[in-house]
Amino acid sequence: MSEKKPLIEKEIFTINQLSEYKVIQKSTICFNCNKKNFTLFDRKESDSKKFLLTWRCSCGQYKAIRDGSFFSMYKTPLSELILFIRFWAVQISISKSIDLFKQMTGQTITRKIVGLLYLRLRNICTRALDKKNIRIGGQGHIVEIDKSMVARVKHNVGKDLARAQVWMFGMICRSDDLCYIEIVPDRTQYTLLRICYDHIKPESIIFSDTWSSYSKLSEVNNYTHEQVNHKYNFVSPTNSNVH
Ligand SMILES: [Zn+2]
Repeated sequence: MSEKKPLIEKEIFTINQLSEYKVIQKSTICFNCNKKNFTLFDRKESDSKKFLLTWRCSCGQYKAIRDGSFFSMYKTPLSELILFIRFWAVQISISKSIDLFKQMTGQTITRKIVGLLYLRLRNICTRALDKKNIRIGGQGHIVEIDKSMVARVKHNVGKDLARAQVWMFGMICRSDDLCYIEIVPDRTQYTLLRICYDHIKPESIIFSDTWSSYSKLSEVNNYTHEQVNHKYNFVSPTNSNVH
């Protein structure tokens, strides 16, 4: 998108793109005529230089563009907000973003607006990365899984012989290093397969050791399961193409 285009052209371009990606809603049914005939319309006052874009139905009904979207709380042009989202995505600081924005557009924007925008974007990403939702791997991707004891009583002596063993179960995708670790109550087939099912995408290639609880992995989620006997092999004995 050229930054030299008049703002209204950039705004129309941005709105069309955001509608296409379904970030904002375009084709809702008009409650007046029950049709889907909304097009963009500039509602600016005749003496105003600023545009005021809105959806207008062929029956004359208006509908706000940002209603119900991430952008509903902003009055800043969408093309400018998108510019800040791009800055945020490449980790440019708030102050630097504001400077760059001024250089590129000749406009100013308050630190409060940008700061809040950044905070909301961070929160959205944090929620998306919440460990309860994370799923790694995928078709053709190799995921290594392993269990490990994180607390134990050494040599069966000491003050806390009664302390329970604590095991964790972890997985890492070789292609992007995304990983997931969970403390597990036991190392049974039910526990470990449930975690794989929840956190490894279908059709992944799973590498594990020869622990018996993994024996049914290939029956779950269309996984391909390769076992590595740490005693003898560092790569799969059955598939020499995979490293
Ligand atoms: Zn209508």
